[in-house]
Amino acid sequence: MRLEKPLAPGATIGILGGGQLGRMLAMAAAQLGLKSHIFAPEIDSPAFQVAFAHTMAGYHDYAALENFARAVDVVTFEFENVPGDTAAFLEARCVLAPNSAALKTAQDRVDEKKFIASLNIPVAPFAPVEGEDDLLKAIDIIGRPAVLKTRRFGYDGKGQTRILADTSPAVAWADIGKSPAILEGIIAFEMEISVIAARGWDGAVALYDVPENAHENHILRTSTVPARIMEETNAAARVMARKIISALDYVGVMGIEMFVAGKDLIVNEIAPRVHNSGHWTQDACVVSQFEQHIRAIAGWPLGDTRRHSNVVMHNILGKEARKWAEYASLEKTAVHYYGKAEPRRGRKMGHINVLTPRQG
Ligand code: AMP
Repeated sequence: MRLEKPLAPGATIGILGGGQLGRMLAMAAAQLGLKSHIFAPEIDSPAFQVAFAHTMAGYHDYAALENFARAVDVVTFEFENVPGDTAAFLEARCVLAPNSAALKTAQDRVDEKKFIASLNIPVAPFAPVEGEDDLLKAIDIIGRPAVLKTRRFGYDGKGQTRILADTSPAVAWADIGKSPAILEGIIAFEMEISVIAARGWDGAVALYDVPENAHENHILRTSTVPARIMEETNAAARVMARKIISALDYVGVMGIEMFVAGKDLIVNEIAPRVHNSGHWTQDACVVSQFEQHIRAIAGWPLGDTRRHSNVVMHNILGKEARKWAEYASLEKTAVHYYGKAEPRRGRKMGHINVLTPRQG
């Protein structure tokens, strides 16, 4: 179902998932006079704290989903592991954006790579792996070193393991839980970047400036804008992002992660949602990625993506959350906390955006 007409202030946005991304989407919706209704199974969902309404139910509770679909004007999601049948169920009853086909492509690393390669966009060499025999064949084709990742449900480096010169394939296969996988050649990249792209119902596309992303233990540590890349790389990244978001007939904001290796630009993966590497837009742009996503799915004109400041976004992980007073005393720094009680190791508790005057 497509949106028939733009949603006026007062309408309700349904959001599947109650984490920090859902929370910041709900806050952006409220700024536009739109209400949010969060659907999530966890009682302590950070998004519940800031939403107009919530439903606490499982993603396979079809009675609850039916009521949710009736209560909202459009449904979106804040995480990519929404079960396929849940998305299909909702799409048959209400407007779902982004669409379930785009979600499905992004959920499976093999489908995702095939799709991106079909657009003549470079991806790492890859081979699907269904079993241990396949893995031996795939290692012959791809060579070592390589990285073995589960096809589905991987995030922040979970569900992946490296195959180095002396790694036993049997151990690697056991490591990832013997589930359907993909073997990828390792890209010797100098830098990881991403493009935060948005597309509206009318096909209009808006792109933000490209951040440079640094990871620690597979978790995003900082996003720095602008990235230290050549203008050609920047232009190529934007062309790729536009192609990908348009080919999926996507509506909403998407994060597209890329590797920069010399003159080459290789797409690693796409996230069918607002993205951690776009949090800097909250304070360095007039319209944040969160507002942009709400605008896109609600049929509003896409907002201005121009960046007025240079910025570094730092994630606040685990026990670092205790340093809130220290963060709050920094100059030119916006503090964002997610309302999570338990500072588990590596858990994303908040972020700060540190601004400096824009150069160039
Ligand atoms: P992913 O879950 O695919 O985003 O991978 C997590 C991180 O692992 C990436 O941000 C990279 O730092 C690294 N990585 C993943 N795939 C590759 C690859 N093919 N070559 C080199 N590094 C990779």
